[in-house]
Amino acid sequence: MAKVLVLGGGFAGVVAAERLAEQLGDDHQITLVSRSRQFVFYPALVGVAFGKVQPADVSFDLRHTMLNRRINFIEAEVARIDPLERNVTIAHGEVEGKLGYDYLVFALGRRLATERIKGFYEHAHHLLNIDKALKFGKAISKFREGNAVFGQCPDARLPVPVYETAFALARLLEERRTRDSVKITIVSPGTIEAELGDLTAAAALRKSLAAQQIDFLPNVSINSLTEKSAMTTAGDGIDFDLLMLVPPFRGSSAASYVGITDADGYINVDSTMRVADQKRLYAIGDCVNLDGPKMGHMAVRQAEVAAANLAAEIHGHGPVSHYQHETEFVIEGAGGGDSLYVHKDLWADQPASVRQGRFWSWAKRVQKSCWEVSHL
Ligand SMILES: Cc1cc2nc3c(=O)[nH]c(=O)nc-3n(C[C@H](O)[C@H](O)[C@H](O)COP(=O)(O)OP(=O)(O)OC[C@H]3O[C@@H](n4cnc5c(N)ncnc54)[C@H](O)[C@@H]3O)c2cc1C
Repeated sequence: MAKVLVLGGGFAGVVAAERLAEQLGDDHQITLVSRSRQFVFYPALVGVAFGKVQPADVSFDLRHTMLNRRINFIEAEVARIDPLERNVTIAHGEVEGKLGYDYLVFALGRRLATERIKGFYEHAHHLLNIDKALKFGKAISKFREGNAVFGQCPDARLPVPVYETAFALARLLEERRTRDSVKITIVSPGTIEAELGDLTAAAALRKSLAAQQIDFLPNVSINSLTEKSAMTTAGDGIDFDLLMLVPPFRGSSAASYVGITDADGYINVDSTMRVADQKRLYAIGDCVNLDGPKMGHMAVRQAEVAAANLAAEIHGHGPVSHYQHETEFVIEGAGGGDSLYVHKDLWADQPASVRQGRFWSWAKRVQKSCWEVSHL
């Protein structure tokens, strides 16, 4: 019997645990550990902020869902892993102390490095959990006029909700017939081309932004915030009345000091999702050292690859699956036919496949419903 520990109850951890339960017999034990028993469907949080989706519709109870799939669930905070001793230190929760394992899947996501932007906690809204999305939603409902500024801080790797927030606000202001009272600006530490990874996709998005009179300021590195202004490393100040920023990302601190990460704390993996130079250790999702944006569909695909290879390893075989690093996302537009679909192989020198139209907004909502139905 093998004891498999999966750390993290997000897209990566949940899918890895589910696939392992499908591929391993009853004699193997699968345990999922996460700090909260709530799974959150993050791509719907812009909808939560704008009151289009209820919080109850974007989360579900992990313990219940995992039990149905023969997976033990432990609600607990992971402090660190020790791949040499093959154990995990639990800081607090339903268990405390050390949990041993035969195989470990690390899927604890990214850390929000808000401490790198002075004043972030006090002055910026963000959308990285349900409570913060609701708080941002309250600010939106009170916001009537002035400057709305949305964007990514340096090292943030999540452009999609920034654009979706700008389009959603433009749509809301049109409905309120107050669009002329608000200037909407997107700030980026890079360019649209870099954020989307493709020239055709960037051109399509620029056109949609221009149609909604949304300004885009490239190469803006925000390094501190005051109550009304975002300060940049170039010494400029960007005034705001409403601010939503994606904070800098870093790897999970539970993997620090083990010698398995890059300088930003992301875990080094190969294409089988095994941690480089380690035995019986896999890492998947936002926590791994792969370039480009950090996306849920990548986490899901990596989980499938890791589960297939781990099951093969337990059965005494070599790797059977390899991860291909592709980005695929939908940016919901302001309405009409401007929702944008982009699919690109990040390891091949090929242009992206780009589509635009009302269908893609619908497809994104259907994807959320399918995920819900398959996990209730
Ligand atoms: C607003 C928003 C919109 C997005 N839109 C899209 C989109 O349109 N398309 C797309 O593909 N992706 C999108 N994403 C990105 C996507 O949600 C992430 O890439 C995905 O959630 C990563 O999955 P993960 O399992 O690696 O990490 P996470 O989902 O972050 O899961 C990590 C899990 O580990 C738990 N955890 C962390 N640390 C500890 C610890 N120390 N101890 C115990 N448990 C711990 C967390 O509670 C969580 O359950 C969006 C994200 C946000 C925030």
